[in-house]
Amino acid sequence: MKVLSAIVPCYNEEDNIADFYQEFIKNEQFFGEKEIELELWYINDGSKDQTAAAVRKLIEKDGRVHLLSFSRNFGKEAAIYAGLEKAKGDYVVFLDADLQDPPSLLPEMFGYLEKGYDSVATRRVNRKGEPPVRSFFARAFYRLMRKISQTEIMDGARDYRLMTRPVVDAILSMPEYNRFSKGIFGWVGFETKWLEFENIERKKGETKWSFWKLFIYSLEGITAFSTAPLAFAAFMGVFFCVAAFVFIVFIIVRKLIFGDPTSGWPSLVCIISLISGVQLFCLGILGQYLAKTYMEVKRRPIYLVKEEI
Ligand code: UDP
Ligand code: MG
Repeated sequence: MKVLSAIVPCYNEEDNIADFYQEFIKNEQFFGEKEIELELWYINDGSKDQTAAAVRKLIEKDGRVHLLSFSRNFGKEAAIYAGLEKAKGDYVVFLDADLQDPPSLLPEMFGYLEKGYDSVATRRVNRKGEPPVRSFFARAFYRLMRKISQTEIMDGARDYRLMTRPVVDAILSMPEYNRFSKGIFGWVGFETKWLEFENIERKKGETKWSFWKLFIYSLEGITAFSTAPLAFAAFMGVFFCVAAFVFIVFIIVRKLIFGDPTSGWPSLVCIISLISGVQLFCLGILGQYLAKTYMEVKRRPIYLVKEEI
C-alpha cells in the first residue's frame, strides 16, 4: 500500500477543522481503488482558539488523523516545513484549512502524477473577492520577481500542491530559516503540471494575512530569491560617480570660460539631499540582506513542538 499525506496548516481555524475533514475524506474511495491510504496532518500553528481540541476530537474517531502543535505561531512557512518532516507519504499535498484549496481537485491532480509528472501545482486565474489594492500589489510583486529572479515564481500560485517523494526530499534538503515556499518549489525544479481554478472565497473565519504581513512576506521573497537589489545599489553608486565626474568637468570648463560668480547653493542642497537619500536607501538594502544572513547563521529551529499525536 502506498500513502498519500495531506498537510493542513491551521492558525485559529476551529470552525474549519471538521468541515475540511469531511471534504477531504470524500476522496477515500478514489484513492482506495488505487491502493493508496490517506494520512492527514493538521499542523496547529500556535492557534489561540479551540483548533487543537477540534483536531483531537477527529483523532478519536479516525486514526489516520494526526496533530502537531507548535509552541507558538511560527507562520505558515514553518507549518509547511514541519508537515513535510512529519509526512510519511509517497505522495504529499498541502491544503489550506479554509477550503480555498478544494480537496475535490485531488483526483484530477493525481491523474497527472500517474501521467509521469513529479508535482502538480495550482494557481488561481482570478482574485475575485479580494480587495483591489491587495490584488494590485500582488500583481506588481510577481511582475517584479519575474524580472529580478532566476527562479520561476508563478502569478497567482497557491501553496496547494501535490508532489512525489523525490520532490519532498528535495525540499527537505533546504533547511533554510527564511523560507519562501513559492520560490523553493520553483527552485527545486522537477516536472510540474499547473492546474488553474477560479478563486474560492474562505468558508469560515477570516484571513490571517494583513496587508502588512503580506508586504513583509514579499520582502522575504525578494531577498530569498534575488540579489538584484544589491546590484541595484552598486549600479546607483557607479551612476552617481559618473554624474559627479561630468559635473566636475562642466564646472571647471565654466570657470575657465566665464570666471566664477559664487552661486548655486540651492542646487547644492538638492544634490546633497538626493545623494544622501540614495545612499541611505542602498544602505537599507544592504541591511535587509545582512539581517537575513544574521537570522540564518543563528541556526535557530524553524519551529518548536508542543504536542504531537
Ligand atoms: N496559516 C498558518 N499560520 C499563519 C497564517 C496562516 O498556518 O500564521 C494557515 C491558515 O490557517 C490557512 C492557511 O495558512 O489554513 C492560509 O491562510 P489564510 O486563509 O488566512 O490566507 P489567504 O487564503 O487569505 O491568503
Ligand atoms: Mg485562505
